[in-house]
Amino acid sequence: MDGVFLLFVAIFTAYLGTMATRMKLKLKTVFVLYFTVSLMGLVYALMQLGQRCDCTEHDMAKDRAISRLRDELHRLQAQIRQLEEAKPPQKQPSKSSLPTIFVITPTYARLVQKAELTRLSHTFLHVPQLHWIVVEDSPQKTPLVTDLLMKSGLTYTHLHVPTAKERKLQEGDPSWLKPRGVEQRNEGLRWLREDRRDGQQGVVYFADDDNTYSLQIFEEMRNTQRVSVWPVGLVGAMKFESPVVEGGKVVRFHTGWRPNRPFPMDMAGFAVSLKLVLTNPEACFDGEAPMGFLESSFLKGLVTMDELEPKADNCTKVLVWHTRTEKPKMKREEALQAQGLGSDPAVEASPERKVQQRRDDNR
Ligand code: UDP
Ligand code: MN
Repeated sequence: MDGVFLLFVAIFTAYLGTMATRMKLKLKTVFVLYFTVSLMGLVYALMQLGQRCDCTEHDMAKDRAISRLRDELHRLQAQIRQLEEAKPPQKQPSKSSLPTIFVITPTYARLVQKAELTRLSHTFLHVPQLHWIVVEDSPQKTPLVTDLLMKSGLTYTHLHVPTAKERKLQEGDPSWLKPRGVEQRNEGLRWLREDRRDGQQGVVYFADDDNTYSLQIFEEMRNTQRVSVWPVGLVGAMKFESPVVEGGKVVRFHTGWRPNRPFPMDMAGFAVSLKLVLTNPEACFDGEAPMGFLESSFLKGLVTMDELEPKADNCTKVLVWHTRTEKPKMKREEALQAQGLGSDPAVEASPERKVQQRRDDNR
């Protein structure tokens, strides 16, 4: 197209030359005509610059090159993995000298479980020297959690213990009536006391599967001496609850409900040194504690308010949120299932129906 236009301009110029000679036109007129046509040519050429060209051929060649390079990359990555596996284990002084963060997470089968654990595992992947202790509220380890942990790329321990029937919320109970995840947190503590008797440098944190954690909170807690504390966002029907710090010490708590509890804090708002957990083998969560006293039941034998170590800029930053996930509606799924058109059960979006059903029946 451009070639045709240029040819046209050339022919037109030659034609003008001939005409000018024949018609004895003034040089000025010829020049003006010549200038106008050239200008049109320039404008046309500029307009063509922004146009897409027919690059299918070009793109295909590029795609082929990209796919070749990608194959090569995968081949090299596999080679690196193989070589690394063959290497004798090496000490990584900078990493392994960090105190380990043992995160204890109770979890139970429900529709959002896989989504919660996926999000949580992706947060933890960004945290160095973290050991995830996942405790399922179930009589056996479930395939969903087993598989998720195996593929997670994290250092983990997989445990399970079912909540006793009388401690479980019953159908229609409000969620606050009974504490949740108690036996599971205690099982995590039991494992630590059995397996980590050597008392390596470490810290223990109880991370529910539905909360939201910034990466910073893990670095705040890493060097906990006894018990460190910080604010928790979106909890207790408040924007945040928090220890109040004066002169570097916790002097009281900002909370809207029973501030005189020994430790009016959410589970997500403190971490305990591994040493303190190991030297106090009796310390555990009391499932029978009155509502709001679960955290206190664990902490009261371990520490006094005066000894708490305030983190997150003297408790002025919110770095963890007590978020809660909405229960998904299954109205259309159920309607389709009634017609035999339910979602393919071989595709794992959530725990299998049977598990889900059993849990719902228990509630
Ligand atoms: N949880 C559990 N079994 C249950 C209910 C809850 O193991 O029957 C776990 C849950 O996965 C979470 C923790 O216990 O990690 C706290 O539960 P939830 O988030 O429901 O409590 P809330 O946010 O209402 O305090
Ligand atoms: Mn929760």
